[in-house]
Amino acid sequence: MNDTSVREVGSTVALLNDDRLFPADEGTRTIARRLYNKIRSLPIVSPHGHTQAAWFAENKPFPNPVALFVQPDHYVFRMLYSQGVPLDVLEIGKPYIDEPREAWRIFARHYYLFRGTPTRLWLDYAFQQLFGLTERLSAATADHYYDTIAAKLATPEFLPRALFDRFGIELLATTDSPLDSLMAHRLIREGARSSGWSGRILPTFRPDPVVDPAFPEFAKNIERLGEVTGEDTATWRGYMRALAARRHFFRALGATATDHGHPTAQTADLTDSRASRLFETVLEGTADAAQQELFRAQMLTEMARMSLDDGLVMQIHPGAVRNHNAQVFARHGRDMGADIPAPTGYVEALRPLLNLYGNEPGLTIILFTLDETTYSRELAPLAGHYPCLRLGPPWWFHDSPEGMMRFREQVTDTAGFYNTVGFNDDTRAFLSIPARRDVARRIDSAFLARLVAEHRLDEDEALELAHELTYGLVKKAYKL
Ligand SMILES: [Zn+2]
Repeated sequence: MNDTSVREVGSTVALLNDDRLFPADEGTRTIARRLYNKIRSLPIVSPHGHTQAAWFAENKPFPNPVALFVQPDHYVFRMLYSQGVPLDVLEIGKPYIDEPREAWRIFARHYYLFRGTPTRLWLDYAFQQLFGLTERLSAATADHYYDTIAAKLATPEFLPRALFDRFGIELLATTDSPLDSLMAHRLIREGARSSGWSGRILPTFRPDPVVDPAFPEFAKNIERLGEVTGEDTATWRGYMRALAARRHFFRALGATATDHGHPTAQTADLTDSRASRLFETVLEGTADAAQQELFRAQMLTEMARMSLDDGLVMQIHPGAVRNHNAQVFARHGRDMGADIPAPTGYVEALRPLLNLYGNEPGLTIILFTLDETTYSRELAPLAGHYPCLRLGPPWWFHDSPEGMMRFREQVTDTAGFYNTVGFNDDTRAFLSIPARRDVARRIDSAFLARLVAEHRLDEDEALELAHELTYGLVKKAYKL
C-alpha cells in the first residue's frame, strides 16, 4: 500500500495507529520508524499462497463482502465456530452464498472475538486502507460496512487485477495439484500478450494428492497422473517418470518451487526395489499407517532428487493434523478450520535425505514448522549448518506479531538472518496480503531497531537487513 491510501481517510485514523506494533519505548520506536519507512513501499514478492489463478485470469468482480472476507478465511470461521456459530449459518464451503448480508451481520456481531489476534489487524487494515472505513466493525456498523464494501467491489478499481497492481505485487505464487491443467496460469500468460496486463502469477507444484497414500482417492489420482502424462503409473518407474514430467510442465509455466504438506518431516532412503514394492502396496490400498508414512518419507527424498535435476526449490510444511474434527469433516469436508498443530521432529526425520543430498550446492529446501519448540533446538542449528537448508517464516498459527518476534528471537542466534527467506502470505484471503506484509515489515523493523538500540548492529546494517528481509532474501531463496 502506498501513502495516498493512508491519506484518503484523512487525519481521523480510527482503526489504525501509525505506530502500531512498534516498540513502546520512544528511542527504539524512533529507530523502528526510520527502518520501516525505508521498506514500507517495497514491492510484494509472495512466493507461497493459496489464492486462485482463475481470479486473475477471469478478472471478474469479487461477489460480496462475505465471499471475500469470511468464506475463504479459516482463521475467521474457526474462531466463530469455537464460540458456537455453526458453519452452515455462515454458508462456509458453498459455491454461492444465498444470504450474504445475513452471514455478514453474524460475522460483525462476533467481531469482538478477534480482539488481540492478527486477524483483527489484517481485517482492520483492509477495512480502512481499501474501503475507507474508520469506525470499528460491530452489530451497529454491520450494514454500513456491507454496503460500503459491496459498492466498491462493483467498481473497476476493485477487480482482481486492479487490486493486484494497487497492492504493489511483483509476483504471486499459487499452490496447485500436479493433476491441475494450469489453464488459468496459461490464460494469464497468453492474456499478458493480448490484454496488456502483465501480473506475474506462478504455479507451485504440490504433489500431496499423488504422493500421500492417505490423500482422498489416492489410487484414482495416480491413474489420472498416468492419463495426463501418457506414462504407465501402475509401475514405480512409470510413476517416477510421470512425476518428473509434471514438474517439467509446471516449470514451463514459471514454477520455481514445490511444496509438501506431509503430516511429519520424515524422509527415507529405500533401495529401488524396496521402494517399488512399497509403491505396489500403497497402490493396492493395503498399506497400514506405518507403510503410508514410509512411502511419504521416501517420496520427499525422491522429490529432493528430482529437484537436483530440475532446480525446483522444495518447501516442507509439516506438522498439521488435518481434519481433526471428525464430525466437521464428515459434514463439510477438508479445509474447514479444524487442522491442529502436532509436535514435529526434524533432526532425525530429515537425516536420510540430508545424508544423501544435504551438501549439494544446487539444492534448496525451505523448512516450516507449526512446532515452535523446534526453532532453537532443531531448525536453527540445522539451517545454520546444512548449505541446502533455509527457514521459512512463521506459518499459519504463528503468523502473528508475537509469532514473528519469537521466530527472530529464537533462530537468529544460530541461523542468522541470511538462512531465512523473507515473508510468505500463505493465504486464501487475497485482501489480507498487504495487511500481512505490513505486519511483517513492522515486526522486522521493531526487531532490528532493538538490535540497533542495544548497539549490536549499526543502523546502516539494520537498513540493509530490513531490505533483505522484505525483498532480497525471498527472491534469492525461491530463485525468482
Ligand atoms: Zn500454504
